[in-house]
Amino acid sequence: MATELLYLDDFDVLTAPAAVTAVTALDDGRTDVELDRTCFYPRGGGQDWDTGIIRAGDSVFTVEEVRLDEHGVVHHLGRGTVPEGAGVVLEVDAHRRAVNTRLHSAGHIVDLAVERLGLPWVPGKGAHYPHMSFVEYNGEVPGDAEQTRRQIEAEVAQVIGEGSTNEIRFMPVAEMAEYCRHVPENIPTNKPARIVLYNRTFGVPCGGTHVRDVADVGTLSITKIKSKKGVTKVSYAVDGVN
Ligand SMILES: [Zn+2]
Repeated sequence: MATELLYLDDFDVLTAPAAVTAVTALDDGRTDVELDRTCFYPRGGGQDWDTGIIRAGDSVFTVEEVRLDEHGVVHHLGRGTVPEGAGVVLEVDAHRRAVNTRLHSAGHIVDLAVERLGLPWVPGKGAHYPHMSFVEYNGEVPGDAEQTRRQIEAEVAQVIGEGSTNEIRFMPVAEMAEYCRHVPENIPTNKPARIVLYNRTFGVPCGGTHVRDVADVGTLSITKIKSKKGVTKVSYAVDGVN
């Protein structure tokens, strides 16, 4: 049965009670724990997985890796003992989550700046990892890349400086175009469809974790812009993270 994904409903849920539905020993020496519900984010959408612990009474299971399978089941891979059927308490590593969330939201704020500047680019893939943070677009840099880099950097500073509360909305994929400039064709079907509304106007279909307020991202630098074969890669860094 699909795991209930608590992080979709709430920007900040880091701990929750849950029940263990399956425990499987893996060939690599680790254990795969499945739960009825989870606040652990599995890797996806360019955002890395959460780590943390699962407490069952006095025993602690250390979560090293989290994956969502095609049936919507989340697999918590790690080490320790958790009895099947046990009631447990989940505790996500708050620092790692905050880093991943800020990096991920930073990518969407770059998208928002690109939109505001009227750059004729179609969003493509992104990576929001501490060692590699970028968003890609279909389209070329119109003119001088350094000038465009500075424009985007100034615009993201403006957006972050203004601040704005983000909003979570669940809706069928067919309705997303009303709120989102770009709705990808390959929206995953193994989890509830959701958008996050940035700055009240800029919807993004996305199942990742997001800052509650765009100001929470902090200082965002555009480190590099490069166009190659019709694809423009905008690399960025968040102060205190990378
Ligand atoms: Zn996203």
